[in-house]
Amino acid sequence: MNALLSVSDKTGIVEFAQALHALGIKLLSTGGTAKLLADKGLPVTEVAEVTQFPEMLDGRVKTLHPKVHGGLLARRELPEHMAALKEHGIDTIDLLVVNLYPFEATVAKAGCTLADAIENIDIGGPAMVRSAAKNWKDVGVITSADQYDAVLAELKAVGKLSDKLRFALSVAAFNRIAQYDGAISDYLSSVTFEEEKLSETYVPTRTQFPGQSNGIFTKVQDLRYGENSHQQAALYRDLHPAPGSLVTGVQLQGKELSYNNIADADAAWECVKSFEAAACVIVKHANPCGVAVGLDALSAYSKAFQTDPTSAFGGIIAFNRVVDGQAAAQVSKQFVEVLMAPDFTAEALEIFKAKANVRLLKIALPAHGGKTDWERGRNAMDAKRIGSGLLLQTADNHELSLIDLKVVTKKQPTLEEMEDLLFAWKVAKYVKSNAIVFCKGGMTMGVGAGQMSRLDSARIASIKAGHAGLTLQGTVVASDAFFPFRDGLDVVVDAGATCVIQPGGSMRDNEVIDAANERGVAMVFSGVRHFRH
Ligand code: 5GP
Repeated sequence: MNALLSVSDKTGIVEFAQALHALGIKLLSTGGTAKLLADKGLPVTEVAEVTQFPEMLDGRVKTLHPKVHGGLLARRELPEHMAALKEHGIDTIDLLVVNLYPFEATVAKAGCTLADAIENIDIGGPAMVRSAAKNWKDVGVITSADQYDAVLAELKAVGKLSDKLRFALSVAAFNRIAQYDGAISDYLSSVTFEEEKLSETYVPTRTQFPGQSNGIFTKVQDLRYGENSHQQAALYRDLHPAPGSLVTGVQLQGKELSYNNIADADAAWECVKSFEAAACVIVKHANPCGVAVGLDALSAYSKAFQTDPTSAFGGIIAFNRVVDGQAAAQVSKQFVEVLMAPDFTAEALEIFKAKANVRLLKIALPAHGGKTDWERGRNAMDAKRIGSGLLLQTADNHELSLIDLKVVTKKQPTLEEMEDLLFAWKVAKYVKSNAIVFCKGGMTMGVGAGQMSRLDSARIASIKAGHAGLTLQGTVVASDAFFPFRDGLDVVVDAGATCVIQPGGSMRDNEVIDAANERGVAMVFSGVRHFRH
């Protein structure tokens, strides 16, 4: 049996090659890989020796040769193929181990020159991978170091690879090539071509939205079904998921996550991780139905639950603090679908053991102080599928701070109200439009979501607060978009709000400001809108 090894990422290759050698497999290799293996005392033949052709053009041509591709592509069961190999003095290659030039990592570096990117486009590697993957019946193709163990296990057990493993390796290989080509096409189509600047050191300007937009995703799992039981579904994640994102979480217990569980869990997690204080977010049908900050997980939860105990039933709950025994005991009194937190104490885990169906997810929070969206655990981009198309936009990562607030009324908000305004504004960003969110004391008091009229969202928030036994008297209220007329303001003030935050920017801002002054409430403009559809 002959193996050809040609890897850029040399992690684990020496140990793997040693194991192949111990199994009596002959090793062939390219320049850098061959040198490393020879240095470790392994008998290795250079591909250049086999092809009788030196590596040339700075490594651009190493393995592009019939002696390599013939050995990979020949169908062993066809006598004419084997006769052709014999006639041309070509040996079969039965195992191919290749990982490609690090194109993705190269272009991800700040200041990457066009020349460097181009030089990191692997040509011979993908060509060999395709040959081997096409001929999966006779050749095993390894494209990642995580496959070494499975391959060795079979080789050690039965001396050859099973059809099943060779086929799986072939599928993985074509996936890898598709990702790789996707990355190249994405990069090149993002470059704004400036002929006058071309040189070896030219660092191209790149557009935010590449022409091809091959999102680079990797499959996590098939889901039992989609949003409804007649729909099929699967979960994919970014190839390099941001720290602190839902897909980096680990499920500690409970039933398998459903499509809707994942969608709601993501909404809850994205919202809770936007708070620095201990916070709890309860989500139903993609909207927060209770959000609160408190001294600890328990107090945040108790407040969040009060907003809408009816909707909280079967909710998806996220914490940005470790869930301890006390919080767990309180939460386990209600019916929960999914519970997320950075961690759970042993006592909390013990309590949830009795509720085996509850899905517990442990997700690390992103580190504070990150500079890029990725470091802060956020998507840079948002996507929405439309009929035969895709809408892409940069994500709504805007954060409001105290100095951005512009008081537009005679009445000034108190400091306490200012804090609640910022809290309400943060929550409103995660509520589907039209969003109206009443808050007080770091908790939501009434949430009106997803209505076609802002007035109806306000009315619904008020009705729900009444059902929950809460009063909206003296609350602050956030509106995700401006009030086009004074009627929206009148509805929230009638409901009891004494302080309002909204983007401003309506043609009739003056009418709305006059109304606020007339009603004796304070109003601030945020200057930004948070539509969420
Ligand atoms: P080495 O470090 O062994 O010299 O090079 C290993 C890398 O070369 C691997 O990433 C492999 O995919 C790549 N490679 C193998 N053959 C060729 C070739 O003919 N042309 C190019 N451009 N890359 C190749």
